[in-house]
Amino acid sequence: MRIKVLTLFPEAYEGLTVGILDKAIKAGKFTLDLYQIRDYSLDKHKKVDDAPFGGGAGMLMTPQPIYDAVQAADPEHKCRRIYLSPRGATLSQEKVVSLAKEEDLLFLSGSYEGVDQRVIDLCIDEEISIGDYVLTSGDLPCMVTINALSRYLEGVLGSEESTDEESFASGLLEYPQYTRPQEFMGLKVPEVLVGGNHGEVAKWRHEQQIELTRRLRPDLLKEEKK
Ligand code: SAM
Repeated sequence: MRIKVLTLFPEAYEGLTVGILDKAIKAGKFTLDLYQIRDYSLDKHKKVDDAPFGGGAGMLMTPQPIYDAVQAADPEHKCRRIYLSPRGATLSQEKVVSLAKEEDLLFLSGSYEGVDQRVIDLCIDEEISIGDYVLTSGDLPCMVTINALSRYLEGVLGSEESTDEESFASGLLEYPQYTRPQEFMGLKVPEVLVGGNHGEVAKWRHEQQIELTRRLRPDLLKEEKK
């Protein structure tokens, strides 16, 4: 997969390319190309914002630098182009999995009070939000989206780190997990997990998933897939 990001803060993405994702990029599992939108501004001071027509608080990103950056990054519109925006559809695991199937993705991160509508109309295929709250820029939402989808790219996670049993994969939350020591601060690991009976372990885990989901996220039970 090839990922392109248009942003005013390319340096922020150093925080994305650590650990598993750093290894994945070095191993060629996906590429990440960062485009500094300001570099495409035709303004002699490299200005990228202006006051909104009609008045209102704050500044907006002007269309020209973004439009030119999109043309430079994706001249033939091969990418699925996504604008991170609070008004987009909320990112879900289902969406993450479908994005992971794309060959080419382009993400536009907004700043200030957002971007001129015309650039969305001209260049963008889809808007995605990471939740009903407003952040100062689209960079964290963009990194959240890339981090989540990259886990579904072949070879990014080790075989021991399967996504199959994780929260949301089956429509349920993950079961509680324990590791050594068997007793910690007086709390013991449930007997069933140390008894060696795989069938019993699987049954207990499924029951726990249902119980946890009922308690913490009852809304998900209506959508359980298995
Ligand atoms: N004026 C906009 C509004 O009321 O919807 C908010 C603009 S916000 C301060 C600046 C940028 O942050 C947006 O252009 C968008 O790219 C990004 N952003 C903020 N919150 C976001 C969210 N929940 N999901 C995705 N992107 C977000």
